[in-house]
Amino acid sequence: MEPIRPPQNIAIIGAGIAGIACALAISQELSPFVPNLKITVYERHDILSTSGGAINLTPVAQRHLARLGVLDELDRMGTEGGADVDAIELFSMRSGRAIGSIKFTDNQGKGFGGYKGRRVMRIALSVAMLTVVERAPNVEIVFGKKVIDGEEFEDRAVVRFQDGTEAVGDLIIGCDGVHSAVRTRFVDVGRSAEYTGLSFLQATIDSDSISSPAHFRTSSLNISRHGSMLASYCDRDSEQIFVAAIVQFSREALTRYRLEPGQDWATQNKIRCALRAEVRDRFGKCAIPCIKEIIESKADWMLYPVYQVRPGGRWCLNRVILLGDAAHAMPPRDESAAYALDDAILFSRILSTYRSEPLTEVFDAYEKLRRNTINHAFKESRRMWARNRDMGFLEGKVKEWMMSFHLRSNESSREAAWEFDATKIALPTPAPSEDIVSLSSFLRDRTL
Ligand SMILES: Cc1cc2nc3c(=O)[nH]c(=O)nc-3n(C[C@H](O)[C@H](O)[C@H](O)COP(=O)(O)OP(=O)(O)OC[C@H]3O[C@@H](n4cnc5c(N)ncnc54)[C@H](O)[C@@H]3O)c2cc1C
Repeated sequence: MEPIRPPQNIAIIGAGIAGIACALAISQELSPFVPNLKITVYERHDILSTSGGAINLTPVAQRHLARLGVLDELDRMGTEGGADVDAIELFSMRSGRAIGSIKFTDNQGKGFGGYKGRRVMRIALSVAMLTVVERAPNVEIVFGKKVIDGEEFEDRAVVRFQDGTEAVGDLIIGCDGVHSAVRTRFVDVGRSAEYTGLSFLQATIDSDSISSPAHFRTSSLNISRHGSMLASYCDRDSEQIFVAAIVQFSREALTRYRLEPGQDWATQNKIRCALRAEVRDRFGKCAIPCIKEIIESKADWMLYPVYQVRPGGRWCLNRVILLGDAAHAMPPRDESAAYALDDAILFSRILSTYRSEPLTEVFDAYEKLRRNTINHAFKESRRMWARNRDMGFLEGKVKEWMMSFHLRSNESSREAAWEFDATKIALPTPAPSEDIVSLSSFLRDRTL
């Protein structure tokens, strides 16, 4: 009987956080065992997307990015490599009062495992990740390849692109985000993302255009009964403030406020003015001078509807698996990118440990390790997001009070989460099977 060989030709769909991290982690894990390893990442955009604003990286996400070599690249960028975040401070927009904080440092002011939080523009993170990929000898990225569907055979899987070409792999990994075509057209046909009813209104503002002093050190979340507004520096020199309002928006409003390429100037201007008015209507009574100034500024707000993918569906076939938001997009919170990175690291480790086992066993071991954690994280995210829906005056006051209580009572579990390290957790060992080849690989690994 032919021995089972680890995959040699791997196609990853999507060059986002999960896709690139997965390519780098598999390259690190499998290269010593697979001399002709070839990993190709297919991305639908022709060039890196500059949209999306800034993202907060937790200590967990930073630790992973450091191991993959991405953090060094971010640091080399200087001020654009992002702002260190010791804590996200929470304030009441109604009274201006401080409510509490989400800390990324311990009692001595040190980061967890050496890492704090970091707020960085998405484009800077993508550039840093691509720079590391360029140095990886067995990873290639191909842009302008939008997957439209795929098919599986006994010994290979195929994805087809909109331009009429196709890619073949021993293993295909769908990292194509919340609206994943690999999921909806291939792995779990029809399982579309659902709109959560909440959206982000985001803008980036020059700090020196705001005359009121900032009420926060690096990052703030300002709470009101009409949603919350995040305001955070996103560069080391504090020259830019990234602002994101989390608000309830009906599905009909989404179509009214969508900025599309090809729209004439007048239509785009009308949408921009309407979005400014939405921000003023909801948060105009803010008692914090710097936030009030931002609300009244001529900021160019962009609307990002928030979608989710319930994690209960199918994650894999026989040669295809979904990771990151493609498998389980949760209403975003500061940990979301860390979950995508954990997925990539854990899957790569299992793929290497189970390299002499069939892919179905690799997928099985991965799901067993991951499902419960993801289900739990998804429920937590939903609970957190429910606090951003519109509410009455009294309910809003209760929310502020509860928030302060919630922050204090969850402090130790948050700190434990910052310590979580996907590179260290024990993996289940491949089970001995009746198959003589699998058994010998099991015995060999045990004696190593
Ligand atoms: C508004 C907003 C704010 C957020 N803020 C934070 C935050 O502060 N902190 C945090 O940790 N998380 C945050 N998140 C969540 C975080 O962005 C995601 O969890 C993370 O990006 C998931 O990574 P991913 O690689 O799975 O998906 P993505 O980052 O979405 O990457 C998917 C990639 O696949 C490509 N692609 C899509 N379809 C196809 C196709 N058909 N063919 C080929 N390629 C395709 C896309 O172009 C993209 O490059 C936020 C999310 C949103 C929407």
